[in-house]
Amino acid sequence: MKYYSTNKQVPEVSFEKAIFQGLPDDNGLYMPKTIQPLSVEFFKNIHEMTLHDIAYEVAKKFIEDEIPERDLRGIVEGTLDFDLPLVEVEKGIYALELYHGPTCAFKDVGARFLARCLSYFSRQSDKKATILVATSGDTGSAVASGFLGMKNINVVILYPKGKISKIQEQQLTTLGENITACEVEGTFDDCQKMVKDAFLNLELKKKYNLTSANSINMARLVPQSFYYFWTYAMLGRDRDVVISVPSGNYGNLTAGLLAKRMGLPITQFIASANANDIVPSYLRTGQFEPRKSVETISNAMDVGNPSNFYRMNDLYGSSVENFRSEIKGFTYSDEQTGKTIKKVYGDTGYLLDPHGAVGYLGLKEYLTTSDAVGVFLETAHPAKFLDIVEPIIGEKLEIPQRLQDYIERQKVAIEIDADLEQLESILERL
Ligand SMILES: *Cc1c(COP(=O)(O)O)cnc(C)c1O
Repeated sequence: MKYYSTNKQVPEVSFEKAIFQGLPDDNGLYMPKTIQPLSVEFFKNIHEMTLHDIAYEVAKKFIEDEIPERDLRGIVEGTLDFDLPLVEVEKGIYALELYHGPTCAFKDVGARFLARCLSYFSRQSDKKATILVATSGDTGSAVASGFLGMKNINVVILYPKGKISKIQEQQLTTLGENITACEVEGTFDDCQKMVKDAFLNLELKKKYNLTSANSINMARLVPQSFYYFWTYAMLGRDRDVVISVPSGNYGNLTAGLLAKRMGLPITQFIASANANDIVPSYLRTGQFEPRKSVETISNAMDVGNPSNFYRMNDLYGSSVENFRSEIKGFTYSDEQTGKTIKKVYGDTGYLLDPHGAVGYLGLKEYLTTSDAVGVFLETAHPAKFLDIVEPIIGEKLEIPQRLQDYIERQKVAIEIDADLEQLESILERL
């Protein structure tokens, strides 16, 4: 499969090149050249297929013959060695729980797939690569866990000081080995910009063989499309399915849109945002206006310039009308989010995390005018946000052992300013 840059100033590349490069040199984003629908046969059988078989068929469309069947099946199975349960929260409303992986957030799916693809392609080389990643909390932990101990790969994580939860910070800063955490004096957007600047500095990029693990990397998006098919396989026999995606950088939603282009009959996508409502506001006004992110209790969605907007814009031929035909956007305050966590827990016993709560809200709002079956993505385990969730419900949460293990470890992080030179001096020392 060939991948082109959305800015169209550089030649098309293979999947391998696209995922090692992360960002094309013209500052666009890679997109698959053709998005082929899966066969009629596939959709006829999908309700009887296993998650791994579905995921393999979908992955093959993106990768074609660059990874042979046996290896690709191994990558898919290694990535998804945990469940993705669909839980009915109330009648006709389902949570797709994406947080049963090692770091308790959906980002495990993308990070584990990316790590396995990079490892496959570098199996016979001893060239060192550096994964540079900016995180608003969950990406960094998923990438650290996904790449821990991988030979020939160093991981450097940039996170905004004081703006991620305690457990998230422990997950980034306590692993050691090939993982280096940098605590940046600034916001997530500053961190993301440093990564972009490092990539645009071609000398730096080449010297350290920089690769990105942010959702700008295609290998993060590909596996995120699997679970849209999986949801449809479980629910879509004879009902319309709408899916609400709590969104920040819009990687998760873009993966859903790609799934739709591959023939998946999802009736409606819902972009659910917190106060950082750049995309819902674009859908309303037709103006895309990135701005400084503001802090919310759903902090992994505190993104002021969502990078995957440019992928969606490419899919929609830069037409807001086209956007509006497939995506509805809603936005919610922290107060609404908190109230919802409390209410849903009180009414049903189901505990939402702050991100899932935003997704739930968007779904509910949409369903007031539709009788489709609704799914919202539950993107993180509520125990990742103890400080927020416990006071809301007035109860102590049970912390999964895999999170507890992180809490007991020693934090090691390098403090830096949002400054490319300081980052470079860290790369120098690796
Ligand atoms: C990253 C993240 C999101 C936002 O996903 P995007 O793909 O960036 O839109 C939502 N919820 C949680 C818990 C996350 O970690």
